[in-house]
Amino acid sequence: MAWAHEVGVRIIPQAGNTGLVGGQVPLHGDEVILSISRLTGKRAVDVRAGNMVLNAGTTLEEAHTIADEAGMLFPLYIASQGSARIGGVLGSNAGGVQVLAYGNARELCLGVEAVMADGTLYQGLNALKKDNTGYDLKDLFVGSEGTLGIITAATLKLFPKPAAHETALLNVASPDDALTLFSTLRARAGTTLTAFEIMPRIGFDFQLKHGMLSQDPSADISPWYVLAELSVPQGVAEGGLAAALEAAFETGLVTNGVIAESLAQREMLWLAREQMSEVQSREGASIKHDVSVPVAAVPELIARGMEAALKVAPGIRPVPFGHLGDGNIHFNFSQPEGADPKVFMAGAYAVHDAIYEIVLALGGSVSAEHGIGQLKTALLAKVKDPVALAMMRSIKSALDPKGILNPGKVLG
Ligand SMILES: Cc1cc2nc3c(=O)[nH]c(=O)nc-3n(C[C@H](O)[C@H](O)[C@H](O)COP(=O)(O)OP(=O)(O)OC[C@H]3O[C@@H](n4cnc5c(N)ncnc54)[C@H](O)[C@@H]3O)c2cc1C
Repeated sequence: MAWAHEVGVRIIPQAGNTGLVGGQVPLHGDEVILSISRLTGKRAVDVRAGNMVLNAGTTLEEAHTIADEAGMLFPLYIASQGSARIGGVLGSNAGGVQVLAYGNARELCLGVEAVMADGTLYQGLNALKKDNTGYDLKDLFVGSEGTLGIITAATLKLFPKPAAHETALLNVASPDDALTLFSTLRARAGTTLTAFEIMPRIGFDFQLKHGMLSQDPSADISPWYVLAELSVPQGVAEGGLAAALEAAFETGLVTNGVIAESLAQREMLWLAREQMSEVQSREGASIKHDVSVPVAAVPELIARGMEAALKVAPGIRPVPFGHLGDGNIHFNFSQPEGADPKVFMAGAYAVHDAIYEIVLALGGSVSAEHGIGQLKTALLAKVKDPVALAMMRSIKSALDPKGILNPGKVLG
C-alpha cells in the first residue's frame, strides 16, 4: 500500500468475491485487485473473555469451526459463508439470519487491524467492551466497503453455544399476522428467539417446480409462512417454542404449522428459506431490492410495494421474503410467466423507483445489508441526507487523500 500510495496505483480490496453490489469488482480497468484470501487463520481465542482474533482472509465457515472447536458460537450465518471472508464480511457489514438476536457484523466486532491508504498500520485489535477514548475508529472500517482501509485482522465476539434449536414453519394469513406473531413470540421467548423470517407461498412453489425441494416443507398451502427459531440455552428445558405458540394456534393467528422433530427436518426448513433467492434465477429474470424499514412498517411496505410494482409492471410476480424481525425485506420480483426477460428487465428502473419511494416514505433504507458498492452509488447520492454525504466525503478525503482505495465505490 505504501508503494501504491507513492506511485498512485489504485487498489481494489477483495476477500471472498461474493459481494452482491460489485464493491470488490474493478470499475475502471486500471486498478489492481488486492486479495486477502491467503491471510487466513486464527491469532488467538479467549473462551473466558468470549472473543477470538482472526486474520481477515479466514472464511466465515472456518470462523464457525474455530469457534465451535473452542466450544463457542460465532453467530453470523449467510448462504455464502463457505467463500465469504472476515475482511469482506466486515467490509460489507453483512447481516444474515440471526441479526435479530446477535446483531450484524458491526455488532459482532470489537476491534480491527487495518492497513491505511498510505501503508501505515492502524492497530485497533482491542477486546474492550468499554473504550471512551474518542471516536470509534473501528466503525469507520466496518461497512466502508474497502474505501477507507484494508482490514487485516479482527477481534470477534463469541457466544455460548445453545444446547438445542427449536424450529417451526408456521402458516399465517398475512404479513400483518406475521408481525403480530413476532411480537407475541418475542414477548415470550426474549433473546432466545434467534430467527424470524417471512416467506410467500410462491417461493416454495418455485422450488418444488424446479426440483430444488423433494417435498413441500409446509403443513399445507398458505399465502405466507414464518420460519421461527428458538436457541435454547444450556440448562433450560426444551419445549418453549410449542408453549409460546399455543395461544397463537388457539386464536387462529397461526393457521397450521410444522415444528421440526429432527435435525434433518430443521435443515430442510432452513434450506427452503435459503433457496428463496437462488430459485428466482431458474424462474427467469428477476428484479431485486435489499431494503429495510422500521419493523412495524413491514406489512405496509409489502402491501404498498406489491401494489405499486403490479401497476408499473402488470403480471410481475412479487417474491418478498426475509428478516421480518430486523425490518429487512428482500423485495424481489420475478418476471411475468412467459415474458421476454430482456423486455422485463428494461422496465426494472420503474420498479426500483416505485419500491424505493415507498421505502423512503416509511423511513427506511435502500440498502439494508448488501451495501452500496458500484451498483447503488447514484441512488445513494440521490437519497442520502446531504449533510451525511458531506461528512462521508470529508472522512474519505482525510483517510485516502489520493483516492486510491476502491475508487468510485460507495460515494461514486
Ligand atoms: C449466496 C449469497 C448469499 C448472501 N447472503 C447474504 C446475507 O444473508 N446477508 C448479507 O449481509 N449478505 C449476504 N451476501 C452478500 C455478502 O455481502 C457477502 O457474502 C459477504 O459479506 C462478502 O464477503 P466477501 O469475503 O465475499 O467480500 P468481497 O465480495 O470480496 O468484498 C465485499 C466488499 O468488502 C470489501 N473488502 C473486501 N476485503 C476487505 C478488507 N480486507 N478490508 C476492507 N474491505 C474489504 C470489498 O472491496 C467489497 O467492497 C450474500 C452473497 C451471496 C453470494
